[in-house]
Amino acid sequence: MIHFDNVTKVYPSQNRPALQHVNVAIEKGEFLFLVGPSGSGKSTFLRLILKEERPSQGHVHVAGKDLSRLTNWKVPHLRRRIGCVFQDFRLLPNKNVFENVAFALEVIGKPRRFIGKVVPEVIDLVGLEGKAHRMPDELSGGEQQRVAIARAFVNRPMILLADEPTGNIDPATSIGIMKVLDRINRTGTTVVMATHDAAIVDAFRKRVVELEDGRVVRDQSRGVYGQAY
Ligand code: ADP
Ligand code: ADP
Repeated sequence: MIHFDNVTKVYPSQNRPALQHVNVAIEKGEFLFLVGPSGSGKSTFLRLILKEERPSQGHVHVAGKDLSRLTNWKVPHLRRRIGCVFQDFRLLPNKNVFENVAFALEVIGKPRRFIGKVVPEVIDLVGLEGKAHRMPDELSGGEQQRVAIARAFVNRPMILLADEPTGNIDPATSIGIMKVLDRINRTGTTVVMATHDAAIVDAFRKRVVELEDGRVVRDQSRGVYGQAY
């Protein structure tokens, strides 16, 4: 589903590569934790998948397509098939839960009847049943992140990218957020989650890819946060 083929990324004005010679193959339906210290290249890895950045060397393939061959007018189509969740939720403050999730479908022209059917289903899936009419500022941080996940998933993307999704959430609530991402993964969606959350990584035992100074220093199935040796 996602193949990094000897990818090096050097930002203009930077001497040190943000990623160097990265080779990672992520299959359809996998769940991958991307770990490593701040500045190790995690966000760059995620941005390359969205074609928000281009490799300086090497190739990124998503769903069998080499992104360097993807014409600019097809980039929005790629991004529509990839859901994104961030540390800071990024909800629309003047829309309620239903409207925040529905908006993701309205902008791609889905019919109202379809929206009325699938949005409540996804609100239930993320554990917010009964809260469709709440405004973001009436929700806890964990609930706001559930809305953000619902919005990212409502279009049934093939890939979900999560950048520090539990970074602003207390540990007990983070487990619930992670269970929602796990549930989404079990529907067949490939999930890549960049995180510093050692407790979460150790509790869920998924594949772990660790970056250090832009290099992959560990790629472990059912891994832990810290080096296990
Ligand atoms: P992480 O997400 O692990 O914190 P990043 O991918 O954000 O790592 O950053 C990797 C390296 O690339 C860092 O040295 C960072 O300063 C640099 N970097 C990231 N984004 C940019 C950018 N837009 N322009 C220049 N340098 C960048
Ligand atoms: P209506 O009967 O209101 O027209 P439909 O259920 O026939 O609604 O679907 C209308 C449109 O919604 C279709 O053209 C399709 O693009 C989209 N659609 C339907 N089901 C799905 C789905 N599971 N995921 C994404 N889009 C869908």
